[in-house]
Parts: sequence; structure tokens; C-alpha cells
Amino acid sequence: MNIKFDPACPIEIRGIVEPYLATFYPLISRCVDNFVVEFIPETSEFSEPFEAAILIRREYKTARLFVSSEYLVLDKKERKLAIAHELAHIITASLRTETRRVVEIWVPEETVEYVKGVFDNAEETLVDDLSKLMVECLTTKENLDTLYHTSEMAPIEHH
Ligand SMILES: [Zn+2]
Repeated sequence: MNIKFDPACPIEIRGIVEPYLATFYPLISRCVDNFVVEFIPETSEFSEPFEAAILIRREYKTARLFVSSEYLVLDKKERKLAIAHELAHIITASLRTETRRVVEIWVPEETVEYVKGVFDNAEETLVDDLSKLMVECLTTKENLDTLYHTSEMAPIEHH
């Protein structure tokens, strides 16, 4: 996976975000080839202000992570969780894309927004759970060593 920081991304943001990406990248490295981090100084023109957001094109294996000035207001724990959250969206991205496709084709127009909202909430719950697991499991070196070691283990036999 190729991680790039947009040249306009302040060094302070890069210094904070880069170690988190280094920690979490084993989980998403097979899903994304090109990963770009961009800084958004002002989020007021967006429909909802955000600390971090992600735009994923799963079919092209690309993702753009947006980190705003609001992100700097978060404490250390929240910053890590916010990055884990956005990265977890990469794992659920294809499910989201296909669900949207099915909803747009099969759901009657008058209920489309409601059904999208139901799936969006379900996805956010799943992504929240995944990101908490990522933070709990992948933020110590011992745990990373265990992860890499166990991935080379012989397959578990089922009886
Ligand atoms: Zn989310």
C-alpha cells in the first residue's frame, strides 16, 4: 500500500496521523493500493462538520483520508480512534456500495432515504465496533508481533 500525504497537509497533522496509519495498515493493506491523506482547514461548507472522513473507491483500491482542523481539538485517544474508524470504513466499503446499488434499484423512491439511513446506521455501528477492536488489538508492539506471527500459523483444524 502506497501512503501519500498531500503537499498542503501540515507537518503537525502528518506527525500525528502517520504513526496511526503505520499501526493499522496491516488490516487494510490488501484493500487499498493508493492511500492519500489531505488536510481540510475548514469544514463549515460541508453538510456536517467532521474531524476525519474518508472517500473510498474500492473498485480502484484507492482511499482519501481527510483530516480537518477539528481533529486537532481531539485528545490523543480520540485521535487514534478517529483514524481507526475511518480505516474501518475501508473494510465495510464494498458492502456499502452494493447495498446502495440494491437500494437504488429495488427500494421504492418514497422510502429510499429511510432505508439508506437504516443501512448507514448499521454500518456506523459495525465500523465503531471494528475501530474499537483495532485500537484494543493493534496498539501495542506485542500485539502486532502476535498478529504477524499467528498469520503464519498452520490453518486451524476443524473436527
Ligand atoms: Zn463512520
